Amino acid sequence: MILVINCGSSSLKFSLFEEEELRLGGLIECIGEQAPKLVLSHGDEEERRSVVAGDHGEAMQRVYEVLVEVYGGVGVVEAIGHRIVHGGERFFEASLVTAEVEQGIEECAALAPLHNMAHLSGIRAARTYFADLPQVVVFDTAFHQTIPERAYLYALPYKLYEEEGIRRYGFHGTSHKYVSQRAAELLQLEHFTGITCHLGNGSSLAAISQGRSVDTTMGLTPLEGVAMGTRSGDVDPAVVFHLVRRHGMTVDEVEQLLNQQSGLLGLSGRSKDMRSIEQAAIEGDKRAQLALEVFTYRVRKYIGAFLAVLGRIDAVVFTGGIGENSPAARRRILQDMEGLGLQLDSARNHTHAGVEGEISTLGSPVKILVVPTNEELVIARETREVIQASGERS
Ligand code: ADP
Repeated sequence: MILVINCGSSSLKFSLFEEEELRLGGLIECIGEQAPKLVLSHGDEEERRSVVAGDHGEAMQRVYEVLVEVYGGVGVVEAIGHRIVHGGERFFEASLVTAEVEQGIEECAALAPLHNMAHLSGIRAARTYFADLPQVVVFDTAFHQTIPERAYLYALPYKLYEEEGIRRYGFHGTSHKYVSQRAAELLQLEHFTGITCHLGNGSSLAAISQGRSVDTTMGLTPLEGVAMGTRSGDVDPAVVFHLVRRHGMTVDEVEQLLNQQSGLLGLSGRSKDMRSIEQAAIEGDKRAQLALEVFTYRVRKYIGAFLAVLGRIDAVVFTGGIGENSPAARRRILQDMEGLGLQLDSARNHTHAGVEGEISTLGSPVKILVVPTNEELVIARETREVIQASGERS
């Protein structure tokens, strides 16, 4: 089985896959805080426990103990796959962990300090508790490394790119890659050209040409692009100057405002959760309606932009919690786009909530698809592929 680890700054999520099946999942939260908790899901059962987890090392020890408890040891695990947020310009694909790869992740930490350092703690702790197991790293940024210069450069002094690596990197790469490949299979295309919309708590779109990412909405960090649960997405950078000068906010406060108090939550003043916002909008809450309008408008705007970038597309693909499960969100986004070749079939749209398949009319020039993503499963698959390929090479 493959153990997938996703270390956040104060959390550790783990998933154990036997081939394509999730056998055991867990989340340790509030690591290093007052009362860390472990939520364990095993089949249909969910169990909550208070645990000791002062740091990622101790949290990994809890994972080890859970495996011993459930399987009588850790011998069932063949390899560990780690999700890594930032691979900078160094990593184009999933890689076997070596000292050099670890060094690379550390160098990329300048671009995502909280995330990458947490991932490194996870890799090191896994080495302590799962000594001989091969470890693989799968990067959120890797799939977007094919984006051309004209799309990844910001119009800033060039030396900021050369010396500091300030450019668009893009995220959710594992998901965009998976759903675009799956779309190619479903449409029986050798390579997919189209737009993938990953709409969840964090949201991003990608323009895919012949199976390769050529642009995406997220940038140096996952803050840029469409409006998200709590993230603002695009704003004029002058908003930051204004908040600092006129409101006396510190840079950390502005960062927190843009990342955690904006988006659907900031606009609605009520929730970051699309289900709550949709419900409140139906009940007549004006601010929730406004939040929905802004969210929808941004996604439409980027679909239009990427259509222009690509020239022609096979399909638009929806994924992520909102993209997969909300027929209403898809209907709003695609309304009146028939002129662009996008004809949504309303009956098919409604039957595809969380279900893979085509939701465009039979005659639609451009197909519209729902493809549920599963980033943990993709990490497990890529981990297995890297291990097999390294076995073949050695
Ligand atoms: P994350 O980015 O944290 O992985 P998800 O991809 O799980 O998040 O997406 C979470 C979002 O999906 C939330 O805003 C949630 O309200 C929304 N969502 C999930 N199910 C539905 C649904 N049936 N209708 C509308 N929104 C939904």
